[in-house]
Amino acid sequence: MSDKILVVVEHQNGQVGRMTWENVALAQKLGAALGIGAGALVLGSGAEAVARELATKKLAEVLLVENSHLATMTPEGFIKAISQVVEQESPRFLVFGQNSMGLDLAARLAARLDRACATDVNGYRVEDGKVIFTKGVYYGKLLSDLECQGDAPHVISTAQGAFVADDAEAGEAPIRQLNVTLAEEDIRRKVLGLISQMKGGVDLTVAEVIVAGGRGLQKQDNFGMIEDLAAALGAEIGASRPVVDAGWLSRERQVGSSGQVVSPKLYIAVGISGAMQHLVGMKGSKVIVAINKDPNAPIFDVAHYGIVDDLFKVVPALTEAIKARG
Ligand SMILES: Cc1cc2nc3c(=O)[nH]c(=O)nc-3n(C[C@H](O)[C@H](O)[C@H](O)COP(=O)(O)OP(=O)(O)OC[C@H]3O[C@@H](n4cnc5c(N)ncnc54)[C@H](O)[C@@H]3O)c2cc1C
Repeated sequence: MSDKILVVVEHQNGQVGRMTWENVALAQKLGAALGIGAGALVLGSGAEAVARELATKKLAEVLLVENSHLATMTPEGFIKAISQVVEQESPRFLVFGQNSMGLDLAARLAARLDRACATDVNGYRVEDGKVIFTKGVYYGKLLSDLECQGDAPHVISTAQGAFVADDAEAGEAPIRQLNVTLAEEDIRRKVLGLISQMKGGVDLTVAEVIVAGGRGLQKQDNFGMIEDLAAALGAEIGASRPVVDAGWLSRERQVGSSGQVVSPKLYIAVGISGAMQHLVGMKGSKVIVAINKDPNAPIFDVAHYGIVDDLFKVVPALTEAIKARG
């Protein structure tokens, strides 16, 4: 029986992606529940610093594969390399994030290895030593239980924000170098360059506090009060889709199934009804506060604190109260 969970590390320009830390937190907890080790797999060229960063977490070990053909992520190169690591290390689970890298690799790797794959996983439980994963279907309206069957490794990709990056426990892990064989002709897709699309530099997925406004604000000018509240809290501004469709805010601020999936420590939803497509993007937030005049608005189903009142009265008062606290 294979005896470890390997988190496949996502990194760029020496920066480790946030979902990697979410997956480390998952691997530590799942590993402890199964009595097996959690480790990380770093693939790259000149990625020693990334491996050292992973080694500051409580992991059994960090595996480092250095190869010039892995300098940028290509499905061909990474899948060939990970397949060789699987042969050498026999992990029980390989864990990716359901993001651009995970979408490119997880299902394809599982097909290549002829192993089971569970994508977009947002939870798990262990029953009689078996791991049952959950994933949301129909925009999160239903949860489905999944059990990966057949030989290991089972390939998992996790939903953004489903596990909490801050829960990744610190520690000291040894780094072990592995070798793989890759040739120039293995790589059929060349990454020619990366072009930043972040006009205002907004990345809601890393924001700790978000104040989001919805159609209840009625018009763009009224967003000034959301800006004031966000400024008082040091928060980023988010929005529901109608706000973005109306052109009041840029697309990068949209939260939901066709926008960003966020998991801040605090999410304040102002004049947002809580349609399923919005909830999918923010229900992983640690604390949710909803301000809505309709007591039956579905946003209150996920809110930890609710204020049923007119937002035009509540938001300025809240901002003043926060400012008064200093
Ligand atoms: C394929 C698809 C993808 C989608 N993707 C997304 C997505 O990514 N993100 C997203 O947000 N939506 C998405 N939607 C749209 C989604 O279905 C909802 O239409 C949308 O979330 C509603 O936005 P809202 O809550 O701002 O507006 P509304 O549903 O109109 O809600 C406005 C709320 O404001 C409250 N309100 C009004 N006035 C006041 C006041 N004075 N004081 C207090 N409260 C007040 C009302 O009670 C109401 O609950 C998608 C839809 C589809 C079909």
